Amino acid sequence: MATHKLLLLPGDGIGPEVMREVEKIVGWFRKRGVGFETETDLVGGSAYDAHGVAISEDAMSRAQAADAVLFGAVGGAKWDSVPYAVRPEAGLLRLRKDLGLFANLRPAICYPALADASSLKREVVEGLDIMIVRELTGGVYFGEPKEIVTLEDGSQRAVDTQIYHTHEVERIARVAFDLAGKRRNKVSSAEKFNVMKTGVFWRQVVTRIHKQEFSGVELEHVLADNCAMQLVRYPKQFDVIVTDNLFGDILSDIAAMLTGSLGMLPSASLGAEDPASGQRKALYEPVHGSAPDIAGKGLANPIAMIGSFGMALRYSFGLLDEADRLDRAIANVLASGTRTKDIAGPGMNAVGTQDVGDAIVKEL
Ligand code: ATP
Ligand code: MG
Repeated sequence: MATHKLLLLPGDGIGPEVMREVEKIVGWFRKRGVGFETETDLVGGSAYDAHGVAISEDAMSRAQAADAVLFGAVGGAKWDSVPYAVRPEAGLLRLRKDLGLFANLRPAICYPALADASSLKREVVEGLDIMIVRELTGGVYFGEPKEIVTLEDGSQRAVDTQIYHTHEVERIARVAFDLAGKRRNKVSSAEKFNVMKTGVFWRQVVTRIHKQEFSGVELEHVLADNCAMQLVRYPKQFDVIVTDNLFGDILSDIAAMLTGSLGMLPSASLGAEDPASGQRKALYEPVHGSAPDIAGKGLANPIAMIGSFGMALRYSFGLLDEADRLDRAIANVLASGTRTKDIAGPGMNAVGTQDVGDAIVKEL
């Protein structure tokens, strides 16, 4: 039996509460013969309290050795004044950097049962299923120079620099085409080639990779601003959207609000493929944060975290039937009206975090 090594990093706030529900699901699959091996470690404020750092070297080497990392959430008022280098968020940044996670995948799925919770009309979003692939390690967030300079006349000038290299665009394009091939076979590549050299370059590289390696997938180029407009006008036209770090940050937040609650949104961050094993380093986490306002109360919606585990089933372990089964269980639980407060409709009784986890296990 193949074993799949998972490192669980629950973190702070509601992180441990939602991770506990994932452990129930892992346990269910394990009982049915799927070989999961799990380890748990500290990250964020809880790691700082124990070790004085946001993630220990020991946890880092476990993350390197794991097939996938499941990450909860970090941070909270308790650590607001810890030194910058060891603040809770530094744990996630270190993981991203050391694991080389360059592709951020954010699905926006609108479950029929929740279509009325969207900021758009039911008919615009019902059945929505799009995947935003955001480049995560390059672009204007990291390019040098990055500075505020005081000029001779006393005025100032601020500079950020957008840089992309061939290999960076190639590898993110490959991730997008590869995903589309397993979905509805369409990639929309978003940039601003009309005003940016990096946009011209992005379009050239994506076009070449498409022609050379993925000509069976439909490719369209779309201006990032138009893409934003189309997302709130007719989002179902999209399958996979691939874009740079900055545009991806914005477009994925727009897509998120099409689907209802923050408590519903999973994400994956993927690294380079190991040529020997074909495996990628990967980290899966809910889009939401540690939600200090509801932490410890058993109110958190665990579906974003459970959905993140579902993405691990699909993208790290190739367990497609299991991933489909988990998705159906989530959809059925939502349809049955078992919902936490953030997604309970008017007049509906809200249940707690554990109730949702238990209901999903029962539905499985
Ligand atoms: P961060 O800086 O870590 O992203 P944040 O304050 O921006 O934190 P969250 O911690 O995600 O964002 O919280 C934003 C709001 O959404 C809060 O009111 C929180 O209670 C709510 N929220 C976040 N996650 C969930 C969840 N899983 N279930 C229910 N409500 C949630
Ligand atoms: Mg936030």
